Amino acid sequence: MSTYDVIIFGAGSAGATTAIRAVQKGLKVLLVDKKVKSLIGKKTCGDAVANSHINLVQEKTGFPTPKGDEVKLIVKGLAIHPPNRKNPFRFQDDDSAGYILDRHLFGQRLLNYALDAGVELLSEYKFANFIVENEKIKGAVIRNTNTKETKEVFASVIVDATGANAAVRRKLPKSLQKWMEMDIDPVDMGYAYRKIIDLQEGSAIDDAEYIHLYFIQTIARGGYAWVFPRGPHSANVGLGGPKSVTSGLPEKYEDFVATFPEFTNPTILHAAGAHVPIRRPMNSFVTDNFAVVGDSAFQVNPLHGGGIGDNMEAGIILADTIAEAKEKDDFSEKALWQYNTRYNKKIGAGHASLDIFRLVAFNMPNRVVNNIISRGILSNEELIAAIAGKLEMSFLTILSKAIRSVDMLPSMLKIQKMTKKMNEIKDLYENQYPKTPDGIPTWLNEVEKLYKDLKEPYRKK
Ligand SMILES: Cc1cc2nc3c(=O)[nH]c(=O)nc-3n(C[C@H](O)[C@H](O)[C@H](O)COP(=O)(O)OP(=O)(O)OC[C@H]3O[C@@H](n4cnc5c(N)ncnc54)[C@H](O)[C@@H]3O)c2cc1C
Repeated sequence: MSTYDVIIFGAGSAGATTAIRAVQKGLKVLLVDKKVKSLIGKKTCGDAVANSHINLVQEKTGFPTPKGDEVKLIVKGLAIHPPNRKNPFRFQDDDSAGYILDRHLFGQRLLNYALDAGVELLSEYKFANFIVENEKIKGAVIRNTNTKETKEVFASVIVDATGANAAVRRKLPKSLQKWMEMDIDPVDMGYAYRKIIDLQEGSAIDDAEYIHLYFIQTIARGGYAWVFPRGPHSANVGLGGPKSVTSGLPEKYEDFVATFPEFTNPTILHAAGAHVPIRRPMNSFVTDNFAVVGDSAFQVNPLHGGGIGDNMEAGIILADTIAEAKEKDDFSEKALWQYNTRYNKKIGAGHASLDIFRLVAFNMPNRVVNNIISRGILSNEELIAAIAGKLEMSFLTILSKAIRSVDMLPSMLKIQKMTKKMNEIKDLYENQYPKTPDGIPTWLNEVEKLYKDLKEPYRKK
């Protein structure tokens, strides 16, 4: 019987990065994935990752930055388009510049980096169930996806990195769940559909050094449509929003692309839809001998649904915490709690703030978004501040902006209220997240107060 320090289910970006860092910290690591080894890393995605994430992962793990065939495009920045597509608003910094990847090649290189570092891999094995003795997780039963034969594997910590479906977390026995949530509200689960296309000869993508986000409520309710160029003649094009209000995406996709003459009759390389969580961080990512990371832990930016970079960083934080727990030979919820506090300070507070932004700003009608962006009712600096939750407007400023367009006063007041809530939730995650599990009920009560009524517009009527 082989016993590991940590067994990680799921070899995507979250699981593989956790494995790399854990083995570099001297832990004995088993990575288990249901896929055939050569298909690990293949994923329905927008394929965009920011420089800031890639550089941090390189600094912490030595994983070299993407090069060669793995890079489809070096991105200069991000353009946000209002519904009328006039005067898009542009970002250009280390969080918006980056790469459009060949996701499969990137995933394979990450996996091989883990294996070279000393991680063991069992591919074509699925998590079947937990092995629990005396109310303590000791390991897992895994099943071969071809032969259906089962085997038992044992570890001090089991990690769920199986993605949006959370195949491991959802089987956690009730008595061991503690503060970890099992379900996700359909308002907080995104669904997106995308195609990878090559344009017809003679057609070219407009402004191909930027990735483009289109906020059009009639096409992508509660979300957005995107065009991520993969070079001058190829693109990843898609749209998505909360599962609760999203329907008929393939048809809406066609309506969206019909407005781009350059996308007429393209060669379709791949077309598919997939889920991604888009909410504030989970109340806790740990219980005794168990942790979650990546989509399974809702570690995705709620504003744009990007998860690769943040979940790689989360994997590093998790692996460091498990290595420290090993030094004390204590893998309890309390010992692993530092993963919660470190993640929330570094990444989670920002995600929580953007979750409030998503719920309020994405519910604004097309004409209001047109006014704000195209007519410059908020300047570029003010828009950047609003997204960061740092926009301060006196009542006089609000009135002066509202005067420019009759129906803007209620929207300006909403933005002011939203900014206040963004700051409050940021503070709750950054500075007031409980140092020990027993503080959760009081903290959660404060968090939930901020969400009152925010999700109602996205409920199915
Ligand atoms: C349409 C779409 C577009 C997106 N665009 C972007 C983007 O441009 N940029 C960005 O950063 N993010 C994007 N995201 C989000 C991003 O793809 C995810 O956040 C990220 O890939 C999640 O990584 P992960 O490692 O948590 O999970 P995954 O990449 O889903 O990996 C999970 C792994 O677990 C394995 N697995 C599943 N079940 C089991 C089981 N029972 N037993 C064993 N193994 C199992 C799977 O085979 C898989 O290898 C997008 C998501 C979608 C749906």
